[in-house]
Amino acid sequence: MTDPPRKISLEAWDGRYEQLHAGGMVEPWYGGPLRRHLQDGDERLPRLRYDDSAAALRLWNFLLTEEDRLHQARAAGKKIVGVMKDLGTVPVMAYSLPNVAAFYPDGAWWIPCILEGTPSRRTSRLRTPALAVADSLGVDESFCPVRAMLGAFLTEGYFPIPDLLTCSVGATCDDFSAIAQRLSGLGYSILWWEIPHRRRPDPGEAAVRLPGGFDAPAGQVAFVQSQLEPVRQALEKLSGQSLDEGQLANGIRQANRARRLLEELRKLCFTAEPCPLPALELLIAEMLAIHFCSDRQEAIAIFEQLLQEVRRRVRAGVGPVGGGAARIFWVNPVADLRAMNLLEECGGRVCGTEYLFCHALDAIPEDCPPMEALARTALADPMVGPSADRADRICRDIAAFGAEGVVISRIPGASHCAMEGIILAEIIRSRTGRPVVEMEVPSVCDPMAASLRTRLEALVETAKGHRGT
Ligand code: SF4
Repeated sequence: MTDPPRKISLEAWDGRYEQLHAGGMVEPWYGGPLRRHLQDGDERLPRLRYDDSAAALRLWNFLLTEEDRLHQARAAGKKIVGVMKDLGTVPVMAYSLPNVAAFYPDGAWWIPCILEGTPSRRTSRLRTPALAVADSLGVDESFCPVRAMLGAFLTEGYFPIPDLLTCSVGATCDDFSAIAQRLSGLGYSILWWEIPHRRRPDPGEAAVRLPGGFDAPAGQVAFVQSQLEPVRQALEKLSGQSLDEGQLANGIRQANRARRLLEELRKLCFTAEPCPLPALELLIAEMLAIHFCSDRQEAIAIFEQLLQEVRRRVRAGVGPVGGGAARIFWVNPVADLRAMNLLEECGGRVCGTEYLFCHALDAIPEDCPPMEALARTALADPMVGPSADRADRICRDIAAFGAEGVVISRIPGASHCAMEGIILAEIIRSRTGRPVVEMEVPSVCDPMAASLRTRLEALVETAKGHRGT
């Protein structure tokens, strides 16, 4: 007889850790008590509530040790590729080579949350606050949290400086484009490749179906493929190995393995009653799909362990989120991870998500040449097409998962959030009839918690009030 799953505090994790160890838990080399990350300066951790499983512990430890893993990869002779903006395409190419590890410097997006916008207690030459550096370069709060990336590069305190930096341009948000250009101006060499704004094919124009269901003109797919070719050549040069069709096809198969595991995990979490895994851990798991947190094999092992735990809970009819919770679809990633806890504290649960990188969750086509498959995947990015396409997919998923309400969380400073949220909310309301709340979630939401709570409670109440009507 095992205890029912719970959500626990960082403090309670100390005892839970001992208990799991006494029960024979075996951890990977990066394992250990969660509390040590607080000593490393991750100040937000005491404010979060966590799933109490060994699978969740491994997930958190994996996420919070990425920097160590990157340094270790470099020490072992691997080349490090910093992939910027495309979210889920170039890493598949990079991991097709055995001596390359890839990561997204964009992940600095969460630095203002995790460090609570303050310097770490471990402050040293290397751990100066990324935001202060961004401010000093004129990249202030009028930008989204990705501005922390600029400080992360200059301080060299958050990730190793990559051996190769790539960045997609063209249909890219103004924030990222301005910051990447600033990096280039500061002397960082960047290999740019272009992604055009995805348009719907004209009548009679040759079209290609993309992962996720959008259509694009065949000419756009061919263009993106031509843009990815120099990336392939740069990876070959960096690694000293050829990156042929067979290796790319194998890389795609491995990426799809991870994506299929995640697909099952998401489906179970969105549909089982009670919800078998908290929204926070599911968000972290979704993020792993983008770049495997610098270790593809370990990321796959984590998906497998999480899935095993979730399947067990579904079979037993147990979960850490209360039964009967309002089923909420969440749009956009939250600048403060605490917001995912807040939803559940207000009587909701996540029932569908679109965190701006749904194209990194869809299986990559395996029935066409690998470079074309990757071009199709890149063009399926919800951010490179019209908002109406994005809304279409959200509405489809709301119906598929049976969501009863929708949260659109605005990202502070994000150029696309000024209007896009309003457009999405109007389309979703009119097509699905579901209540929609649009709200900004700052990087540290504590000062706004009362107002966010009121809005979430109102949404939960309205969503439940519509049951059976
Ligand atoms: S959050 Fe929005 S504005 Fe910021 S980098 Fe991502 S897409 Fe761009």
